[in-house]
Amino acid sequence: MNNHMINQKPEEIVFRDLYSAQLANVFQKSLRFISFPSFLIERGWLFVSDQSGRVLASKKFGSPVFGMQSSYPLQGEEEWSQVHEETGSRTVCFPVLRNVWFPGYIGMVLPLSVEEKHAITFLQGFSGVFRLTQEQYITGEIASCIQTVNQDMYLDSVMQTIVQHVASNMTLTDCVAVVFDEEQDGMLPRWSSSDRKLLQWQSEVLHSPRKVYENIVSNFSSERRVLHNENTNIRELLGLEKDFKERCLISPFRYKDKIIGFLAALRNASHPFTSQEQNFIYRFTKDLSLVVYNSIIYMRAQRDEQKQAMLFEITKKFHSSINVDDVLGAVIENTKKLYPEMEVDLWLSHDSFSTTLPVKQFSFSSDGNNVSAQAFMEARTVMVRSEGTRSLTLAAPLRGKQGVYGVLELYSDKPISLPSREVEYITMLADTAGNAFENAQLYEQSRRLIKELLLIDEMTRQLNKNIKLHDLLAFITRKLTETFRTEHCCIFSWSDDENAFVMRASTQKETKEFVLPIPKTGKLHDLFVKKESLLLADATETEVVLPSFSYKSLMAVPFMEKEEVTGAIMLMDSKPNRYTFDDFKRLEMLTRHVKVAITNASLHAEVERMVVTDNLTGLYNRKYLYDSIRFSQSRDVCGSLILIDVDHFKNINDTYGHQIGDEILVQVADQLTASIRTSDIAARWGGEEMAVYLPKVQKEIAHQVAERLRLNIMRITRPTVTISGGVATWTKENGILDVQQLFQRADEALYQAKRAGRNQVCVAEAELA
Ligand code: GH3
Ligand code: MG
Ligand code: MG
Repeated sequence: MNNHMINQKPEEIVFRDLYSAQLANVFQKSLRFISFPSFLIERGWLFVSDQSGRVLASKKFGSPVFGMQSSYPLQGEEEWSQVHEETGSRTVCFPVLRNVWFPGYIGMVLPLSVEEKHAITFLQGFSGVFRLTQEQYITGEIASCIQTVNQDMYLDSVMQTIVQHVASNMTLTDCVAVVFDEEQDGMLPRWSSSDRKLLQWQSEVLHSPRKVYENIVSNFSSERRVLHNENTNIRELLGLEKDFKERCLISPFRYKDKIIGFLAALRNASHPFTSQEQNFIYRFTKDLSLVVYNSIIYMRAQRDEQKQAMLFEITKKFHSSINVDDVLGAVIENTKKLYPEMEVDLWLSHDSFSTTLPVKQFSFSSDGNNVSAQAFMEARTVMVRSEGTRSLTLAAPLRGKQGVYGVLELYSDKPISLPSREVEYITMLADTAGNAFENAQLYEQSRRLIKELLLIDEMTRQLNKNIKLHDLLAFITRKLTETFRTEHCCIFSWSDDENAFVMRASTQKETKEFVLPIPKTGKLHDLFVKKESLLLADATETEVVLPSFSYKSLMAVPFMEKEEVTGAIMLMDSKPNRYTFDDFKRLEMLTRHVKVAITNASLHAEVERMVVTDNLTGLYNRKYLYDSIRFSQSRDVCGSLILIDVDHFKNINDTYGHQIGDEILVQVADQLTASIRTSDIAARWGGEEMAVYLPKVQKEIAHQVAERLRLNIMRITRPTVTISGGVATWTKENGILDVQQLFQRADEALYQAKRAGRNQVCVAEAELA
């Protein structure tokens, strides 16, 4: 370690090294501009050292027998010389400390034969060149910076280049640049050679940008070129905390007489800025002011252009698209683009609106969006500044002609400000969105209305098509899932047989036929017993237990009949908050129509059943039997008809009365139904006369069936009755008999059986038709 370093604090050593590279550099450059005296050229050394005497660079002339020390005990502002008897040399040093950018000493080592005054005279001359070269070096630095930024118009890169240049020319110094923007009523994005410094400035210094600006303007009197710790209370100027102890050098950018921004050089407290450094910063900012000004103007023009383009784009969207998402999406996206420093939120109040955009739902509780709530309720733009996080919040209402639909909220944690021009612009943007929103909503509303009408119309038409109840329910569940764009729909109805509500239709196959006993408590109790509709926004699974479908949103509306709940429609979705109150009201309205459709379909089915069946026995009637035989003849190869007549039925009536007679007829009919296959048709075709038609059955089999019927009836009926039967068969082979003929033959066979003593079956002989 060199002697001069002993007992010095490390930071001082470093600071002494400050400009050593520049000193060496300038020394080398200046050698080119001088002519060397002959006494030096023969043999000697020329060197440069820093303020502490450490030799930074040297040049050797001739072949001197003596060498150079690495440092000399230099001090003060006087020339210095020393004789070294043992090597026969003399060292002479000349200070170049004042009014130079890089202070130091220049010196020579010469043989003792050279007179000291000659050496001093030369060094004096050389110091002039040395000074000029320093000046040239700095001018060169500024020129190169100007050259770089002149090729650039963008404020960001211009300012970044400037701070980097300053920092690289002032060792141990950080630089922060600030630009005032009248439009922004404060300071624009700042730039710094150090991210840490930038953050510190953003959170502390620019906390009240307007005030700092005013302080700086009032502190720069005409003769004051720069502000620093010696001529200003920097801490007060910047409005900083007490523990701010740094050295700070502030120099303004000016356009005409107006201050448009400034550079701040910052350095550790123990190292004041030299007057050369002050000069450097001053010259730097002065020479670069015009470039900075142009960049600001360019940036402003660009912003205006961007804003125009953006408004145009949104208005275009607004006119070309009726889709709310499109318009709102464009508003959010462009706002973010234009105000990259701010966060953008969209709050919507209208619960009838569903969107895929990241919008927030308004709640008027006091959870942090007071500003937006105020903007919403007062229908005007509100801007609030505050200490700490969220230093700025701007809330612009989305106004339409009929009301306010939401709020566009911009906020930032950084200390930025928005001038009235920007506020007006954002307000206009929000209004555009509000109008678009209103239009789209009206459109959507009418479209929904049309859809509902279409649905009701379609249901009515389906009904007129003699649709089966089962198919109608399937149709309704399908249509409701479509209409409400939801995942699942099912219909329950009351079943007397099961003594429970049964799921009759479901868009999920696996849940069909689910049986739900009358619930004792809970939401389903409310629905089925208390007759209340349900709307759940974020349900827990236990609220309404349904098989194999997990949901968060649920709507359910009961059907009523004569004050009784006869069923319900349920809509479900796995996403929470899926249904709006509007949806709920719509479902209630639609349910009334659905209910009518279902009732009609049920009645329809009942009437149809009544038309084809006999009241007393429940057997098919004669018309149905005829139709069935005709249908069978069109399709099958053969079929048999059995006519049955109860024997001496008059006597039964006479003995037991008509009522018992009727009961016996029911017994006979039940026995008929029980003794035949489902594809066979049993019908009542006269008073105590019945018939069974057996499709695809040949004569012999029909005979056996008739015999079985006869025996069964005799066995089962109480009081016991017997029957007589007549069988007639048709075959395709023999030519199809018409229904009338078939009956005639069977009747003839029956008559035969009666004549032969009753309680027996006769078969008509097959004949060609
Ligand atoms: P058979 O057929 O053996 O010759 O004697 P029958 O006594 O059954 O005579 P017939 O078939 O001519 O008489 C039918 C009787 O059945 C007439 C009527 O009193 C009785 N009858 C017809 N329809 C009904 C009905 O719906 N209920 C009751 N209880 N009796 C009926
Ligand atoms: Mg009869
Ligand atoms: Mg009879």
